[in-house]
Amino acid sequence: MIFDSTNAHLVPIAGRAMLLHIPTTALFELDEMGMEVLRLVQADRSLDAGRIQARLSGRFSAQAVGELIGQLIRLEVLRHEGANRPINPSGVHVDAYPLSTIVLNVNTGCNLACRYCYKEDLDIPAAGRRMEFAVAARSVDLLFSQGQGRQRVGIVFFGGEPLTNMPLIRQVVEYAEARAEALGKTVDFSLTTNATLLTEELIDYFDAHRFGLSVSIDGPRAVHDRNRRTVGGHGTYEVVARKVRMLLARYRAKPVGARVTLTAGTTDVEAIHEHLRDRLGFHEVGYAPVTAADEAGHALSEAELAEVYAGFERLGGQYLAAALAGRNTGFSNLHQLMTDLHEGRRKTLPCGAGVGLLAVDHQGGLNLCHRFAGSELPTFGSVQQGIASDRLGAFLERAADRSGTHCATCHIRNLCAGGCYHESWVRYGDPHHRTYHYCNLLRRWVDFGIRVYAEISTRNPKFFSAHIEPRRAA
Ligand code: SF4
Ligand code: SF4
Repeated sequence: MIFDSTNAHLVPIAGRAMLLHIPTTALFELDEMGMEVLRLVQADRSLDAGRIQARLSGRFSAQAVGELIGQLIRLEVLRHEGANRPINPSGVHVDAYPLSTIVLNVNTGCNLACRYCYKEDLDIPAAGRRMEFAVAARSVDLLFSQGQGRQRVGIVFFGGEPLTNMPLIRQVVEYAEARAEALGKTVDFSLTTNATLLTEELIDYFDAHRFGLSVSIDGPRAVHDRNRRTVGGHGTYEVVARKVRMLLARYRAKPVGARVTLTAGTTDVEAIHEHLRDRLGFHEVGYAPVTAADEAGHALSEAELAEVYAGFERLGGQYLAAALAGRNTGFSNLHQLMTDLHEGRRKTLPCGAGVGLLAVDHQGGLNLCHRFAGSELPTFGSVQQGIASDRLGAFLERAADRSGTHCATCHIRNLCAGGCYHESWVRYGDPHHRTYHYCNLLRRWVDFGIRVYAEISTRNPKFFSAHIEPRRAA
């Protein structure tokens, strides 16, 4: 009997163990009998069911052991020696693009000049190229036609800095709300802003249209001002913090989140979290570690990335302690992992880019996601001509094909699915290259998440219904 590590992964937790069933992302807590069975199989692959029952006969009934082995065989966690089977079948066929979200790049210009900005089409404010309403309206039409099977669709306004093109945002909101009403659907709006242009009037407008808002802010003044600067090179913390306080005091529609970019020299996520969550009052904080080196060398080094993940685990300890008391600390990277585990997420592709989501550049070109707008990766059609389905399908099918990659046997393949296309594009010049440069950290992070999940499930399972299920329904 063989323990098939391509289908199951064990995470020990103080005297017990969780079994991750990789094909379904289901988690099982192993009792003493389960742990003993797997221990015996892993120690001696020549054992068959009868011999395992005999070895455990003093402690567990043969019938119970036999039933458990039967279940593990059905789950393909155990298999008989020689019973080879193809693992992780690839070869998905993509011929439908049921859009749920469209990202509109409303202006390539930004009023700031953050030193690490990855935007491929970023212009200084004066040179910003703005999207015309005709392009935006075609984008909205494409969203409703491609997403016709969906009751709810979303529009994300992106830039540059999206608030530099408020006239277009207002026109799009009016147009999309009218179309949604005519179709009996719901449309959600969202944007991420550097906050510097926020006014009370704008906040009230976003509130009235129930925008999902996130603010790009990197932490306390010294950390934030390292990179997030004006065109003249001055730090922006002062103005951003002032606007954030105004926003959080005034905004009622939805919780507001902070988006932190972690680049070379910025690893103290605990101090950042304390500042953004406890002092400024953000509902949740998400961290994006930059791992793909650009020419200016803003990527975290290997050692820094390890420091970031060590900090994530310490923040995760705080998250766990709060969850056991029924509270959510707003550490969104871990909360997302809890959600994925709770829902048993099984990803064939790393993200929704190109499937549920497309990003429209200012001219109407269709890009995999906001990060690719203006890049040298050819677009996948346009809102004027429609989706170039053959090329987009071929791209996605190649991305889903794990054969010949380390992902084929990786135990987090259905949670990671090969990593961000854009990171790979920047780092390797190939969006299909897997993000192999930090697989070990990611695997360790998922194992950490499984331990946190197991603790919460055992000691305060109500946390999931209070903090995850409502979020999904929101
Ligand atoms: S990129 Fe690495 S961590 Fe992600 S699925 Fe592939 S092998 Fe696993
Ligand atoms: S490709 Fe990367 S940046 Fe784009 S949506 Fe996917 S994960 Fe996000």
